[in-house]
Amino acid sequence: MTKPAAVCFSLACGHAAEAPATTCPRCGKPMRSARQVAVLGAISLVIGLLLAGGMAAIAWRLAPGMLNPGVPGADGSRFTGTAAQGRQALVLFASVAAVGVFSALGGAWQLATGRRSRALLVLMLLALAVLALNVWWTFQLFPS
Ligand SMILES: [Zn+2]
Repeated sequence: MTKPAAVCFSLACGHAAEAPATTCPRCGKPMRSARQVAVLGAISLVIGLLLAGGMAAIAWRLAPGMLNPGVPGADGSRFTGTAAQGRQALVLFASVAAVGVFSALGGAWQLATGRRSRALLVLMLLALAVLALNVWWTFQLFPS
């Protein structure tokens, strides 16, 4: 499979041209070169892995204490919230990690195929929407 020379990054279009082009022949938006697509894919992959890995590491460290606040054996002494708040914080970490996973998958797909996966992009946007909801809900649970 040969990689296209230029790819339209418009969400609605996604047209791939065999020859280099500066503007999309279908929708008129700027085209990205194969090299730009690869670089953007690599950035998306690295950021996604950092997000997912970082959140997993934080959740792994904090989960015992946050799920069992005030239980000394479970190391809950440093967490001052309720168990419900602890669960919500973990859900928040999980939704950040989900954004990271879809970002990494989309980046890997882009590196492998030279095109942007619209399905993975939509999944990542959905994960972002879920994350936004969770941020809002977390602020409700943690009154300042
Ligand atoms: Zn286009």
